[in-house]
Amino acid sequence: MNYYAKPLTKLIAELGKLPGIGGKTAQRLAFYILSMNESDATALADAIKDAKTSMKYCSVCGNLTDVDPCPICSSQGRDHSVICVVESPKDVHAMERIKEYNGLYHVLNGAISPIDGIGPDDINLRSLIIRLQNEDVKELILATNPNIEGEATAMYIARLVKPAGIKVTRIAHGIPVGGDLEYADEVTLSKAMEGRREI
Ligand SMILES: [Zn+2]
Repeated sequence: MNYYAKPLTKLIAELGKLPGIGGKTAQRLAFYILSMNESDATALADAIKDAKTSMKYCSVCGNLTDVDPCPICSSQGRDHSVICVVESPKDVHAMERIKEYNGLYHVLNGAISPIDGIGPDDINLRSLIIRLQNEDVKELILATNPNIEGEATAMYIARLVKPAGIKVTRIAHGIPVGGDLEYADEVTLSKAMEGRREI
């Protein structure tokens, strides 16, 4: 038996599709949204719509951007001879936060995970190989997450790239094993970058 009117039921259902949002939280959020003033509620709806329509993946690095290529790829102030490979755009954000890295990125938008049926062709890897062939890259930093999938992905890329004579490094494990790059604090992430080693 549903006690709510259709529009409210629909809002609760849509909010409930978000990660980490259970039925109760979805209900609480829906009631909160209804209590918001008109302009705040419209701003929220517009922000979702705008982000969804204007954000795309950078055709060079795979990062989320509203301009293609993204500002990092097109920046002349950055070192184009170093590429840091990460799993997600959130990791780029985390790395940028420490303000120590001035190279480029390559966002895989995933990690190799045979158990989940995700192979090398299912992540943004082919475009990395093309970049390495066409650009003068001296170092590839593998900053995939220090968990099983991230390690497997780093190993796969290292094996693929090393014969081309490019220096391949892996960030050090200041980051807890099983942890996510995006949740690492700045000091930990900074230390991990400093302690990276060639693999
Ligand atoms: Zn880019």
